[in-house]
Amino acid sequence: MNGLDRVQARYDVVVVGARAAGAATAMLLARRGLSVLAVDRGAYGTDTLSTHALMRAGVLQLARWGLLDRIEAEGTPRVRRTVFHYEDEVLDIPIKPRDGVPALFAPRRTVLDRLLADAAVEAGAEVRHRVRVADLVRGPAGRVEGAVLEDADGATRTVRAGIVIGADGLRSTVASLVNAPVTRQGRHAAASLYGYWSGLDVDGYHWHWSPAAAAGVIPTNGDEVLVFAGVSARRFAEEVRADVPRGYLRALAEAAPDLAEQLSGARLVGALHGFPGHPGYLRRPWGPGWALVGDAAYFKDPITAHGISDALRDAELLARAVERGGDAALAGYEASRDALSTRLFEVTDRIASVEWDNAELKRLHQALSEEMKREVAELGRLAEEPVATGRWSA
Ligand SMILES: Cc1cc2nc3c(=O)[nH]c(=O)nc-3n(C[C@H](O)[C@H](O)[C@H](O)COP(=O)(O)OP(=O)(O)OC[C@H]3O[C@@H](n4cnc5c(N)ncnc54)[C@H](O)[C@@H]3O)c2cc1C
Repeated sequence: MNGLDRVQARYDVVVVGARAAGAATAMLLARRGLSVLAVDRGAYGTDTLSTHALMRAGVLQLARWGLLDRIEAEGTPRVRRTVFHYEDEVLDIPIKPRDGVPALFAPRRTVLDRLLADAAVEAGAEVRHRVRVADLVRGPAGRVEGAVLEDADGATRTVRAGIVIGADGLRSTVASLVNAPVTRQGRHAAASLYGYWSGLDVDGYHWHWSPAAAAGVIPTNGDEVLVFAGVSARRFAEEVRADVPRGYLRALAEAAPDLAEQLSGARLVGALHGFPGHPGYLRRPWGPGWALVGDAAYFKDPITAHGISDALRDAELLARAVERGGDAALAGYEASRDALSTRLFEVTDRIASVEWDNAELKRLHQALSEEMKREVAELGRLAEEPVATGRWSA
């Protein structure tokens, strides 16, 4: 079903955006018995500009939601080690099966986002693609009470909701319509270039670091390997943008000469993709009748490959808060998110500066690892916490 067919006049929740954050939030709320409509202006099952290495917290969420088997059934390979290649040292870290997580995974977004949208539908949510939110509906006191939807043919419909959730990414329409305040602003941005390669024999995630460039290797579906290069946003603008393939190979040769050599025996599948960089931010993620989740609420530089894992984590935190209902629950969502995010955000911003030396970079990675452990522990604790004390009501 597409467009505005059978869209009702009223839902408990309207979710704007149906990828990692939005589809997960819609699924969780529908599983808890709320009536949910999720819309996405993009088409079902499509790709998006993003590499997609999941960290343990993200895999833990997928396992807990019963979706990991489906991810594996799509041919997503297990990632059993993470290797950090510094200029003076190689750190090879095995991924131990723990916390219900057998290994790490890096599903293509065409796989992950589709499976999440399917799971939302199975749970009872209505998910409509090629439908965008053009505006919000407000009550007399300014509270958000619904949204104006527009389908690909330009037909519009107004729906009412107890809460409208913006899961609409980096350039969130909802965040801008509610004027969500930025509570923390990053200073740095790194650029990424990536492509998919076949015929490349790799085992695990590999992250390579050199003073002027980084590189990464992420095994994914279809026996393909995502290979990315990272440079400062400035270098991207001045040197790489004009000739992306050349800039990509040059950055790879600097950061990972052996890998660059291996690529001469492999085949690039499809086009290269470039992201020019964007400084991170945390936004206040709730207000009267609205909430934000995923990149709409919290974006950090992709250099630490943590955005999807955080989107899945925050979908859980927000769904619990919405189910409880009321401002105190939403304020709790913001507090929990901030407690789990602030240090990781700062560390990521510092890494994205590309102004570190080897010793500082290792310390930053150590801090990152500690934050990730804390996040997994908190998610584990959450699993034991009862949910559902009430229903959301406007
Ligand atoms: C280059 C790059 C590399 C990355 N690498 C990694 C990585 O390796 N690992 C990782 O965990 N994270 C990575 N990230 C971060 C990750 O992509 C994001 O954190 C993640 O996509 C956030 O998911 P989301 O659902 O919040 O937003 P998105 O995936 O951006 O989805 C938002 C959706 O909202 C829809 N939308 C927007 N406006 C409207 C509207 N008005 N009406 C209806 N729909 C709307 C869009 O069509 C879109 O489908 C990377 C990001 C980039 C840019």
